[in-house]
Amino acid sequence: MKILIVEDESKTGEYLRQGLSEAGFVVDLAKNGTDGLHLAEQGDYDLAILDVMLPEMNGWEILRTVRQQGMQMPAIFLTARDQVEDRIKGLELGADDYIVKPFSFAEVLARVRTVLRRGRSGTEVTSIRVADLELDLLRRRVSRAGKRIDLTAKEFGLLELLMRRQGEVLPRSLIASQVWDINFDSDTNVIEVAMRRLRVKIDEGQKVKLIQTVRGMGYVLEVPEP
Ligand code: CA
Repeated sequence: MKILIVEDESKTGEYLRQGLSEAGFVVDLAKNGTDGLHLAEQGDYDLAILDVMLPEMNGWEILRTVRQQGMQMPAIFLTARDQVEDRIKGLELGADDYIVKPFSFAEVLARVRTVLRRGRSGTEVTSIRVADLELDLLRRRVSRAGKRIDLTAKEFGLLELLMRRQGEVLPRSLIASQVWDINFDSDTNVIEVAMRRLRVKIDEGQKVKLIQTVRGMGYVLEVPEP
């Protein structure tokens, strides 16, 4: 899943970028309001983390502008000012959460995951199930037929994308941009390699193979028709 961070304090921005990348997210970081808005308008992000006080254009203005354009991207505000009026302003604009500086990374990660589980529908999804395969978004666990499967952060991200969009053929270019921060034009087989590993973990020894390759198109996760 893709996250946009707009934060002008380099240390805080890098700290968030590194932590969220290690947690398996694809992260873009902008250091001022104009660049942040530009990315938000282009990027197809699942979530934005916006600092309130930014050069050129503040976090509220970024959210207000993308909302006016009809984009529903969830947003979490970062602010040093723990003031009631800030919270009200942010929530009126449709912010999904608020984090007051200084914060711990664990707190940010927990809030990010909660907002992403809630998604655009507003109802919180805590697990996704396809046949006997279950992805537990709260505990970050995967099991098939009740048996626990250990995945890396990237493999978990890849499986989460496939399961959230079950039945939909996902082109490699989309997987590349959502799970890896790479251009599909780049000469790499990173997706094929990860997909092969994931399939071994999920489908090997199983009667029903859930991950399918659709030749020339991409990958789909679904229960195959008999
Ligand atoms: Ca700032």
